[in-house]
Amino acid sequence: MADIVLDKVSKKYPDGSLAVSEVNIEIADGEFIILVGPSGCGKSTTLNMIAGLEDISSGELRIGGSRVNEKAPKDRDIAMVFQSYALYPHMSVRDNIAFPLTLAKLSKSEIASKVDEAAKILDLGQYMDRKPANLSGGQRQRVAMGRAIVRNPKAFLMDEPLSNLDAKLRVQMRTEISRLQQRLGTTTVYVTHDQTEAMTLGDRVVVLRGGHVQQIGSPQELYANPANLFVAGFIGSPA
Ligand code: ADP
Ligand code: MG
Repeated sequence: MADIVLDKVSKKYPDGSLAVSEVNIEIADGEFIILVGPSGCGKSTTLNMIAGLEDISSGELRIGGSRVNEKAPKDRDIAMVFQSYALYPHMSVRDNIAFPLTLAKLSKSEIASKVDEAAKILDLGQYMDRKPANLSGGQRQRVAMGRAIVRNPKAFLMDEPLSNLDAKLRVQMRTEISRLQQRLGTTTVYVTHDQTEAMTLGDRVVVLRGGHVQQIGSPQELYANPANLFVAGFIGSPA
């Protein structure tokens, strides 16, 4: 586990657009933090910089106290869950979950015990031999999470993981994600444009607009004490 610090982090894309502008966020070890804001406000760019999938243009990113700006994604020890599940269609659920451990060349017995544990936590035991095509959307999303937790990473990064699910499943998975985080206690950065998710899932919420942080606070603080009209409107408007 680890804390994550963004210290005046900016991202300028090669075409010159400033997607993220001098963002300061201190995420505590074990915290569940939400990045929320309208489409195009810089949520994915911020997450991708934490993951190492995008270079940081200026500023510093620290994970567990160390600067990681120049570190490759695989050396950051964090797991990402995307909205598209990115499962391997030709592999069983078991092999999909095991994949990162197979890559890391763990022994067969170690892999089997870690995969079983993840399957138990996510209630996937009875689906282990199925292919992704024969699973529901919610089950697929759980497999994607299984693949993330099996590595026991320092942090989880989730980019709108529920946006492909129907409303009922979204509510159910929201509860499961909360439970999972409470059980594992792993630092989690969760991106959503959904106000309800933002106000119910996280310990704290970062509201972004046009690449700038508008406010950081607990859901209660944002609700009771919005920093400006944008935050008030965004938090207060129906999901
Ligand atoms: P969000 O995830 O909040 O919808 P993004 O982080 O994807 O926002 O995008 C933030 C801004 O950066 C947007 O204006 C978007 O058009 C721009 N952007 C995203 N990716 C690229 C890219 N590869 N090249 C140029 N601009 C990009
Ligand atoms: Mg996005």
